[in-house]
Amino acid sequence: MDELRKDLTRGQWVLVRPKSKPPAEEPCPFCPGAESETGPEIAAYRKDGGAQNTAGWTVRVVPEPDAYFRIEWELVREGIGMFDMIIPRGASELIVESPRHEDTLASMGLGQIESVLWMYRDRLLDLKRDSQIRDILISRHHKKPGVPGHHPYSRVTAIPIVFDETRRELREAREYYQYKRRCLYCDVLRQEIGGEERVIRLTPSFVVLVPYAPRVPLETWILPRRHGCSYEEALTSDTAPELARLLGEYCRTIERHAEDPAWELVLHTAPNLRSRILQGDWATIRDDYHWHLEILPQPERLNRVGGIFVNETPPEDAARELRERWESTA
Ligand SMILES: [Zn+2]
Ligand SMILES: [Zn+2]
Repeated sequence: MDELRKDLTRGQWVLVRPKSKPPAEEPCPFCPGAESETGPEIAAYRKDGGAQNTAGWTVRVVPEPDAYFRIEWELVREGIGMFDMIIPRGASELIVESPRHEDTLASMGLGQIESVLWMYRDRLLDLKRDSQIRDILISRHHKKPGVPGHHPYSRVTAIPIVFDETRRELREAREYYQYKRRCLYCDVLRQEIGGEERVIRLTPSFVVLVPYAPRVPLETWILPRRHGCSYEEALTSDTAPELARLLGEYCRTIERHAEDPAWELVLHTAPNLRSRILQGDWATIRDDYHWHLEILPQPERLNRVGGIFVNETPPEDAARELRERWESTA
C-alpha cells in the first residue's frame, strides 16, 4: 500500500510505494486518435464541440498512468507510534498541451499556449473544490534528462499535505510579512524594477527576471506585477495572452541561447485555502504570498555543497545576455 511518511528529523515527506512498470510510450497514447489508450478524459477544450474521449481537442487532461496520488483512495492520517503517515489521496493528471506530438512551448502558437494557461486555471479551480486536497503543483519539463522525448504535457499533482518546498516558501513569505507588513515579492519587484540589472523583460502585467541568488545560471522567475496569492484568480483575458506571449518568447530565447537546454517550470501558487487543519492556517496568505512562475533551465547544472548551491555565472551577466538574446529572437 502506498504511504506518505514523514521523516521527522528532516521535516520532509517521502512517498513509499511499490516499484512500478514504466508505461508504454510507443505508439504515443496522447496523440489524436489514441484517446481510448488513456484513462477517461478529465477535461478538454474542443473547438467544434465533439464528444469526450474522441479526437478534435486542442488541450486535453487525462489521469497520469501509474499515478502517485489517487482520488479514489480514502484519506487516512495515522500516527504509527511516534511517526506520521498519510494515505496519498490526491490527483495525478497530465495536461496534454497540443494535439501535435512534436510541439514545444517554443513552437506552439500564442493561442495554444494561452489555452494551456486557461486549463491550468480550470484544473486548480476544480481540484480546490475538494477540501481534502491541500496543495496542487503544476509543473512542466522540457527534455528531462534520462527521459525519452514525448508528447508535450504539463503535470498536475494534488496532494493532502503542503509540498515541502511550498511550505518553506510560504513560511518565508509569512515571516517577512509578520515583520514588515509588506509582501516579500512586491518588495522584490519594486527593487528589481528599480535596479534593472537582473530584469530580462518588463510588460504591463509581468516582470521576467533572473533572481538575486539563482541556483543555476539561467534560473528565471516570471512575477505578476499586481499582487495576488493565487494564479487562478489572477488569470484574466488581459493577463493570459501577455503571459502566453512571454512564455513562448522566453522558450525561444533560451532554446537559441543555450542550444535547446532541458528546463523545468513550476507554478508557485497558494495552496487550497479551503483546506484548514489548524486554526490560523492561511491567516495572512492573501497579503503575504504572491503567485509566480519559476523556470530552471539546465537543471543538470545544479551543483551543491552541503546544501549550498554553487552558481558560477553572476545573475547580472545572465540577465544581460538573455535580454540581448530576447531582443534578437522575438
Ligand atoms: Zn503524441
Ligand atoms: Zn505581493
